[in-house]
Amino acid sequence: MIEQEKIEEILIPENQIKKKVEELGNQISCDYAGKEIFCIGVLRGATIFLADLARYISVPMTMDFMAISSYGISSESSGVVRILKDLDENIENRDVLIVEDIVDTGLTLDYLLRMLQSRKPASLKTCTLLNKVERRKIEVPIDYCGFNIPDRFVVGYGLDFNGLYRNIPYIFVLKTV
Ligand code: 5GP
Repeated sequence: MIEQEKIEEILIPENQIKKKVEELGNQISCDYAGKEIFCIGVLRGATIFLADLARYISVPMTMDFMAISSYGISSESSGVVRILKDLDENIENRDVLIVEDIVDTGLTLDYLLRMLQSRKPASLKTCTLLNKVERRKIEVPIDYCGFNIPDRFVVGYGLDFNGLYRNIPYIFVLKTV
């Protein structure tokens, strides 16, 4: 599916992702029993994760998407976020779950949380597949976390480099040269 010379190291194989996504889905379903979840997928990285996660969520749920772009130099998050696509629906009084592919510095999620909180949801929680704890610049609450990973640039399972590798079913470190 992908040339072996592009892979520095497979960090999380497909079977581990599948198992973790199922666990997260089960936990979320328990925690939201009797409620309806309004899931917000952050485009484009979280699409694959959210699509899989949704199939393990057994309580009623709806999905909406936001597209954001961060100002500043390409790979560094500045925390100043521009909304390219806003939600189609109103989240007031709804139980909102933000679904992210990765939390790195935390600046993007912090901005999203503050912006969405101002729209008065009944509750607001966060779920991320990957978490680079040691890169954090600002404390953000993460309610559901798939994997803590080291400070390495990863791709696959929704995460890209120049738009590529989102379709690869595992998470890996790209060879730089
Ligand atoms: P933060 O604001 O937390 O620093 O940035 C989060 C965003 O940075 C993610 O949504 C993602 O777009 C990007 N990002 C951070 N680390 C990685 C990585 O290892 N791989 C990829 N593909 N994107 C990353």
